Amino acid sequence: MEINTDTAVVLPMQKLIISATRNLYLESDPTTVNLILYDEANHTTLKKVTLMLQIWQALCSQLNEVAQTLQAIKAYKQVHFLHYLGGTWYISLGSPNWCVHIREYNFSLDSMKIYPTQNGIAMKHSEWDLFMWDVGPINEPLNLSGIEPCYLKSDHCNEEGATACVECQPFFYQEQGAQYLRDQI
Ligand SMILES: [Zn+2]
Repeated sequence: MEINTDTAVVLPMQKLIISATRNLYLESDPTTVNLILYDEANHTTLKKVTLMLQIWQALCSQLNEVAQTLQAIKAYKQVHFLHYLGGTWYISLGSPNWCVHIREYNFSLDSMKIYPTQNGIAMKHSEWDLFMWDVGPINEPLNLSGIEPCYLKSDHCNEEGATACVECQPFFYQEQGAQYLRDQI
């Protein structure tokens, strides 16, 4: 990612109150955002994830879709929302699960499918609603609209360039390798 050091922003630690007992802390440097889920009652860090700034941007661009999915779940509709954020990161939620997951995925050579890992943060619906409320003003100084998404880079115009990018296609070579091995049998 191209970083303009003149405009790069370092965000001091921000506290987002998401429930009576658990809060989310957010801090950024010019390239990454840290999300820290903290148990205030027990003074314990429950989870900490580090997202590249463009993955955070992709996440924030999905807030409306997540809100609509939450409405559908609350109306007892069967829905499943899984959106790719870049790198190995996804945001997901679906009925009957009552959590929004910001989570890293891995690729299974056995099933040839992606699967969620332990590295991620899960927020209950009520926590997510409060998170949404606070995240807009916090993002303002980050100027996320100025970040160029990976897939718009000039070297991504052709298939070769796009598939060679581990940020856009993190599991491409595992998939190709697994398929090759299967073809040999
Ligand atoms: Zn890319």
